[in-house]
Amino acid sequence: MKDFLDELDNELNWVLEETPIEEKKSNPLPKTNKNTNNRSVIIKKEETETQQKQPTNNNQKNNTQNTWNITGYLNKKSLNFPQTKFYLPTLRDWYTRFIPIGWNNETWAKNMWMVQYWDDIVLIDCWVQFAETDMFWANYSVPDVSFLTRYKKQIKWFIITHAHLDHIWSLKHVLPALWMPPLYGTKLTIWLIKKSLEEYNLLEKATLIEVEAGKWIKEKIWPLEVEFFKVNHSIPDSSGVYIKSPGWAKFVHTWDFKIDFTPAIDAPADLTRIKKIWDEWISLLLSDSTGSIRKWFCKSEKDIGESLEKIVANHTKWRLIIAAFSSWISRVQQLVDICNKHDRQIFLSWRSMIENVNIARNLGYLKVKSWIIKKMTPKTTQWIPPHKQVIITTWSQWEEFSALARMSEGKHNSIEIVKWDTIVFSSSVVPGNEKSVGWLLNKLVKLGANIITKDDWEVHTWWHAFQEEQKIMLKLVRPKYFMPIYGDLYFRHVHKNTAMSIGFKEENVLMLGNWNIVDFAPDGAVFKSRIKVPIQDLIVDGHGMWTATSHVLKAREKMMNSWVLVILFRIDKKTKAILWHLKLETRWLVYLEEVRYVHKIIIKKAKESYENTIKDIPDIEEKDLIKVIKTDMETFLLKRIDREPMIIPMILEV
Ligand SMILES: [Zn+2]
Repeated sequence: MKDFLDELDNELNWVLEETPIEEKKSNPLPKTNKNTNNRSVIIKKEETETQQKQPTNNNQKNNTQNTWNITGYLNKKSLNFPQTKFYLPTLRDWYTRFIPIGWNNETWAKNMWMVQYWDDIVLIDCWVQFAETDMFWANYSVPDVSFLTRYKKQIKWFIITHAHLDHIWSLKHVLPALWMPPLYGTKLTIWLIKKSLEEYNLLEKATLIEVEAGKWIKEKIWPLEVEFFKVNHSIPDSSGVYIKSPGWAKFVHTWDFKIDFTPAIDAPADLTRIKKIWDEWISLLLSDSTGSIRKWFCKSEKDIGESLEKIVANHTKWRLIIAAFSSWISRVQQLVDICNKHDRQIFLSWRSMIENVNIARNLGYLKVKSWIIKKMTPKTTQWIPPHKQVIITTWSQWEEFSALARMSEGKHNSIEIVKWDTIVFSSSVVPGNEKSVGWLLNKLVKLGANIITKDDWEVHTWWHAFQEEQKIMLKLVRPKYFMPIYGDLYFRHVHKNTAMSIGFKEENVLMLGNWNIVDFAPDGAVFKSRIKVPIQDLIVDGHGMWTATSHVLKAREKMMNSWVLVILFRIDKKTKAILWHLKLETRWLVYLEEVRYVHKIIIKKAKESYENTIKDIPDIEEKDLIKVIKTDMETFLLKRIDREPMIIPMILEV
């Protein structure tokens, strides 16, 4: 059978498009959203914080038009969020609320915040957690917005700060569940979201609004005023947000940021604008803690470009393969400029890389002549001498099927790694992934490849602020309260210490846990609710969405930690007597040398357990009989062979 991923790659008949996207007629992005000012729904206020409230049934005309199709979509994909009985505590008049819906104490990939003023809700970013070993082969985990489905009429808009997958991936699940609230983001962010929604046939129902970082858009998204300000990161058009509520609460949320004065294609972070925001007397700064254990500054993209140029210029043997994240558009631009100068041909490998480059080029972020960059196929590479080839390939550490992983397995459809190929890892290892990256390196070395990593040359820089950059942000914004966010608890504590080292008082540093509810009073006082939002671990597995505690995952976990024993009893329907020898199936339970002995004692004990139970309770129900046999066998096997397999007794009446 033809490989699924090869088919995907071949399906994409990529041609660099010369027509700018703005000039295309199909699916134009709306410039304004006329509906948004009408979305407010007033719900009755209760007297105390702890009392819970139910949303009213006041309808929103602009949302109902989407209902039928979205429901169809949800039913089709079986991706409904679970039902919940939770209601948000009442928000007092003029108070403004913050809730982290993502996991606030984990470094990677769970990013989502909610802001509420009066009855209007705004969501920021939409995370995903890609498959990890503790997810037991599920595809990925999505934010649990179950409680928000009760409030979908009040959700006024979504803000997306940048287009990294961990900030936009789950929109395809969350947007339809919340009746497609309008979504704001900078240009590249919106276009990459557009690509993702298009694949799920959701684009027609989506309202996507481009904003410019550094420009007020308050008139469009009442009642909150929001400004996007420019920061640097590993993808162009990244922004932080300044949110001002009518309740005098003023928040600055940096999201993922760093400060680079010489970035490759982006402008430097807009420090002048950020400094100006300080004039507004900010109540709270929420700032990225991912890089907080690292001292000094991140290296600039300019330094990385200089290293890459030396490598390309001096490379004369066979092919040069650069492994990078597919969203790192600036790295592609650096390589385009270098290859142009040194007469090399670039080939792009893998669908996500090709699509992102195509979009970035058409939007003007990437300046490249068509001849210098081609999709890699056996046909396109055949006339170019190997030492003139620079192959840019994806390397996603969450995706075992990324192009580089397939090259290491000899399964890539266009390239076979051979001796003298040089592979440059122009990206960092995400903490926790060191082992799998080590395996990948070993496989590539076995094939004869020469490896260059950031430990050999300056071929990669970090994409989250180090301590000095964090200090600059703290000093420029000068908030009353500071909340270190997004990072393991330890990282957040280090960030807290950094803030205190430049004069922040401990009582003004808020360490918010997961799903806490924090309300800001108009006089600047802060209240943490005793109530927490009940968020569950939700996973997408196949075509369905499930809670990670479901019995399927528990069984998979058990199988991971133990082994399987199936015992088949074939019995007489009337007498209940065992008719034939018991049949056993074991997986990973017994070694070859002991199989006869272990099977023999299992059969003997299982038969004994069945017959004794039937004798004691002749009318026992089958499910209870199975339970007894299971317990007996568990105790027996632990005692006799010191192993705890998953035991599945099956009774077949003949
Ligand atoms: Zn990011």
